[in-house]
Amino acid sequence: MSNDNSDGKRVGVVFNIQRFSVHDGPGIRTVVFLKGCSMRCRWCSNPESQNKEPEIAYNIHRCLGVRHCGRCIESCTDNAVFCDENGMILINRSYSSDIFRELVEICPTKSLILYGKTQCVDEIISIVEQDSVFYFRSGGGITLSGGEPLLQREFAVSLLRKAKQHRIDTVVETCGFISWETLREACTYMNRILFDIKTLDPVKHEEYTKTPLEPILDNFNKLKETYPELPISVRTPVVPGFNDSPEEIRRITEFVQKYKDTTHELLPYHRFGSQKYSFLGRKDEMQKYLHK
Ligand code: SF4
Repeated sequence: MSNDNSDGKRVGVVFNIQRFSVHDGPGIRTVVFLKGCSMRCRWCSNPESQNKEPEIAYNIHRCLGVRHCGRCIESCTDNAVFCDENGMILINRSYSSDIFRELVEICPTKSLILYGKTQCVDEIISIVEQDSVFYFRSGGGITLSGGEPLLQREFAVSLLRKAKQHRIDTVVETCGFISWETLREACTYMNRILFDIKTLDPVKHEEYTKTPLEPILDNFNKLKETYPELPISVRTPVVPGFNDSPEEIRRITEFVQKYKDTTHELLPYHRFGSQKYSFLGRKDEMQKYLHK
């Protein structure tokens, strides 16, 4: 158990803070996106959320190239950024993100992006508090999202506890694939939980998310038994070729309807994040399934 002071100073890695959100819990909210995820969903639209550490991304479409700029290469003394014989900028992603921090600052076109920043709880709470008046009027507050926000257990719990001390409404959006102990501790400081159930087919779940379904449903049942008063919104992203059949959705809806005070929300599938895969030097696995 941390005291007030140690909570405020606790640090974690955050990749975005989105103010004035109306889709992630009641009212107007500030959504804090924590880096790191326990799943690898094929359709993930936030690939920058998956790894725990800050990571470098490069948008070739914005880059002025070596002939017209080349500042990154001139400033980089250790080959983390270099160019090939055709003048193409190449990134050695095995270097620590600290090496890239300065290069991101000097890039005039923001072609270099560092996803993830180490921030402390007090710093985040002071950003969140700027919109207190809107929370008060709309019933909003702070939402922790990711990735899987509870993967950074101590940081997430400190954020929630601190928000509670400041009388800010708290919501956590979880994929459910997390230890029960972590979930149980975090629930003590939550006003609502958004819990993803993507499919009830265990084989499909494992194939598309690289994680088993059973521990998620176990957590869901324990949550209902241990915190019967905690409102739960089950969320299902509707993904083409995965769960977009009426039977599949009906199965999840019927499962949810067995529980009191539990709502079910369908989330539309989108491809807004697909470009980020190439920025991060990764393959977008969903492409080949969409174009079959
Ligand atoms: S500093 Fe930015 S714009 Fe200039 S060459 Fe490097 S990545 Fe491209």
